[in-house]
Amino acid sequence: MKVLAVHGGDKVRTKPFFTGGAIIGEEERRRVKEVLDSGILSGFLAQADAKFLGGKQVLEFEKILRNYFSMPYAVTVNSATAGLHVALGACGVSPGDEVIVSPYTMCASATAIVMMNGVPVFADINEHNFCFDPESVRRCITPRTKGIVVVHLFGGAADMDAIMVIAKEHNLFVVEDCAQAPGAKYKGRHVGTFGDAGVFSLNQNKTITCGEGGFVLTRDAKIALRIQLMRNHGEVVVQQMNVEDISNIVGFNYRMTELEAAVAIGQFKNLDTWNTHRRNLANYLTKQLSKFDSLECPNVPLDIEHSYFVYPIKLKVGQLGVSRDTFLKAIHAEGIPLSGGYVRPIYWEPMFQKKIAYGRQGYPFTPPVYAGSVDYSRGLCPVCERMYEQELMLTPVCRYPNTKEDMDDVVHAFDKVLSHLDELK
Ligand SMILES: *Cc1c(COP(=O)(O)O)cnc(C)c1O
Repeated sequence: MKVLAVHGGDKVRTKPFFTGGAIIGEEERRRVKEVLDSGILSGFLAQADAKFLGGKQVLEFEKILRNYFSMPYAVTVNSATAGLHVALGACGVSPGDEVIVSPYTMCASATAIVMMNGVPVFADINEHNFCFDPESVRRCITPRTKGIVVVHLFGGAADMDAIMVIAKEHNLFVVEDCAQAPGAKYKGRHVGTFGDAGVFSLNQNKTITCGEGGFVLTRDAKIALRIQLMRNHGEVVVQQMNVEDISNIVGFNYRMTELEAAVAIGQFKNLDTWNTHRRNLANYLTKQLSKFDSLECPNVPLDIEHSYFVYPIKLKVGQLGVSRDTFLKAIHAEGIPLSGGYVRPIYWEPMFQKKIAYGRQGYPFTPPVYAGSVDYSRGLCPVCERMYEQELMLTPVCRYPNTKEDMDDVVHAFDKVLSHLDELK
């Protein structure tokens, strides 16, 4: 009888999996060398001429993005956090406006709202795709609601049809946070092309990377211009550029360097191949793991192309008889990278619990700037809290260059631990 590794037995797997890190090809190297040799590491200047829009690699990358996504405007930035900030500014968030956002996401989805002095209102997720539950979004709407930040979590796609209906009914803007889902599709259409703006990340840990970076897609010429102005010290060019509405044009330096764009161009060519590879591994894993009653694997509708930034597994803790943490430790000991919970519900963080963002007087969560009564109490989003505390597990193994044989090791580890459960009780 095999002994669990957590009790001193042999591990199912001793070889490490590939779990992340940039895979750099020839094109990235060639382009970076070209940039270095040119002596122009950034092509931006904050002045009303061609340099306002950046250098050669940046412009080329933006053109590649427009073509790939079939969108009229793509604006690069130096992170998705910056992208969310400028997208929300361009969509017209004013101090004290409420913006609805998921609590189960990287913090910037919500803090970008606070950067615009808005008030995040957290709607719960559903437990099928870990994205917005549209009915919960609907319940969050008040006369102060200005927009919605939709997060396409873990590489999947939120229920965009329902969300766009709600947005239209209440005249709300929609910003899509696609940091984890470049290339994912909802009903045949790329995520990031449904709302007023779609924001993507190129940070070290994302599907494709240039170290730090991001971009924003939009169909709206005015939003594109306002994003460009916020990206690059807009206040000093608005007069020459005849921009009449100067609200929310306080400018930042969110400019992408030529080096980052050079790497991003090379990386982007892998996106579809890597996503297909991820999807194939994930589908294989789902098929193998579905024989275990106590696991719930992604059940992705046929009209969604998931990009599996990470692979989510729900543990039916009720019928298992051991806690998720005990279970995780046992799987981990077998040599399988698996983590529990993802991030704490964002409203649990001190910024929201104590309502301290700017200064000490509760700005922007309190009067006079904000007249509403936003709720950040524990228990606010029960599904999110349950996923975080009890049920959700994530593994990063479904990615290039891991193979189906690697997935078999994952399955063997689950098999071994699940057939020795009594020893964990
Ligand atoms: C990574 C991430 C971000 C932030 O991306 P940066 O490029 O690091 O600023 C925002 N939202 C989500 C959902 C993310 O996963």
